[in-house]
Amino acid sequence: MTVPAVSLTPRTDPGLGVGASAGALLDLASRDDFHRWEAQLENTGNCVSPIRLAGRIDAVDRATGQRRVMYDTDAEPGGVLRIACGNRREEICAPCSQVYKNDARQIIRSGLTGGKGIPDTVAEHPCLFATLTAPGFGPVHTIRTDRRGRQLPCRPRRDAHQRRCPHGRDISCPRTHHRDDPRLGQPLCPDCYDYTGHILFNACAPELWRRFTIYLPRQLARLAGMTQKALRDQVSVRFVKVAEYQARGIVHYHAVIRLDAPGSDYQPPPAQYTAALLSDAIRSTAAIVSLDTAAHLTRLNLKAADTDDTAAVPVIGPDLTRILVFGTQVDTRAIRESAGGLPGTGSALSAQAVANYIAKYATKTISAPGLPHRPVHGTAAIAALRCGAHYKRLISDCWAIGKNHAAAQLALNRWTHMLGYRGHFLTKSRRYSVTFGQLRQARITHRRAQRHPDGEKDPWGRNLDERTVLLEAAWIYTGTGHASTAERQLALAAAARARDHDQIAREETWTN
Ligand SMILES: [Zn+2]
Ligand SMILES: [Zn+2]
Ligand SMILES: [Zn+2]
Repeated sequence: MTVPAVSLTPRTDPGLGVGASAGALLDLASRDDFHRWEAQLENTGNCVSPIRLAGRIDAVDRATGQRRVMYDTDAEPGGVLRIACGNRREEICAPCSQVYKNDARQIIRSGLTGGKGIPDTVAEHPCLFATLTAPGFGPVHTIRTDRRGRQLPCRPRRDAHQRRCPHGRDISCPRTHHRDDPRLGQPLCPDCYDYTGHILFNACAPELWRRFTIYLPRQLARLAGMTQKALRDQVSVRFVKVAEYQARGIVHYHAVIRLDAPGSDYQPPPAQYTAALLSDAIRSTAAIVSLDTAAHLTRLNLKAADTDDTAAVPVIGPDLTRILVFGTQVDTRAIRESAGGLPGTGSALSAQAVANYIAKYATKTISAPGLPHRPVHGTAAIAALRCGAHYKRLISDCWAIGKNHAAAQLALNRWTHMLGYRGHFLTKSRRYSVTFGQLRQARITHRRAQRHPDGEKDPWGRNLDERTVLLEAAWIYTGTGHASTAERQLALAAAARARDHDQIAREETWTN
């Protein structure tokens, strides 16, 4: 019998301990093709939900037209090839999410300090870490701090007994909330809270960000006393941004924004474009960006109906009309090669801290007990959720607004679990630094070189050269996930072991 190379008792994994019997695991481990299965698992990075493909790759000799099989999944365990799901979300697939997170970290870092083909001199360019918050939609329990970072009471009011909200509720809070206080982000009066505005903000945040990126160069030009065209000849604004949910269930954005000279060689902009000028431009842009939801929805509806006739699309009533803006708290911080501090503690940030911070939020969505990971459809399913009342109300309003024909283009019914946000969690301008695709390709090339140390051969035994042979692949999707509970368990165990191994390696790196 083959002894499985995976530990069956990992230190961490809630998914284990239930499911396949020991007998089923032993059966799997003693199969003839277990090694092959294990190799596939390793190739997917221990993905917990691999995509299963059947098919083959043929090589066609370009000179003779002769065709031979290069690879066929018939020879693989279960007759399928397993490909990593590639999901960035930690709660969906931890191993794939880890790969994504590492890539995100490298992308951010190389744009801050160089590397991966980006010159080290980018570290000298004006570059800031900016946070654009969401506006208020009603008072919520919060952590407030003074200028020195000392914590203040939530919403103290000396006249709390006289001053009540229109619903008769006391909307003061003398407490100093702890970081994991479940009350954080919850409205003091749910009836005062503008749930529709909140959902519309999440749904329109990507458009607000898009406008921000269009207006920012204009503000920069204005502050530098230039025309927009003259500015474009001297400066390119490059960024990477990530969306993060605040405790109240609303997205805000963190972005690394850098100024370069135009072009693809990452040269610095003229000296007059300083970090201070960039900071002023970011602040003034954040202050002027706005979105009228009535106009926005009408535009989306006209586009969807492929018409210019406003009489042909729904009139947006006051119920769906809001003027959306960013919150007044706009934070811009310098980023240094090495500096202390984490976001939220003042002073400059280190490149590593920024990279870690953005990578973390690129793989996370909102996390609160009982929140669904996938869309919830229908009022009954929403009523059955076991999350806090505030989130449940957001989800149910997201569903209800989604059912409104006038707001159909926001696709809210498909994004109930995201509280209406349907944007990407990490986006970047084209030339911020390397891309996910380039990093992925480098991994594939590296793995291939490892598998074929003397070069890959074609079916005729020659060195593989796509100028000599044409490769034709035909794949059929056969399913997602592991084929059996036993396979799934071994994959989870392998993933947990790899994670522990990673953790140890990282701890060793930090202590060195
Ligand atoms: Zn996966
Ligand atoms: Zn409070
Ligand atoms: Zn009220």
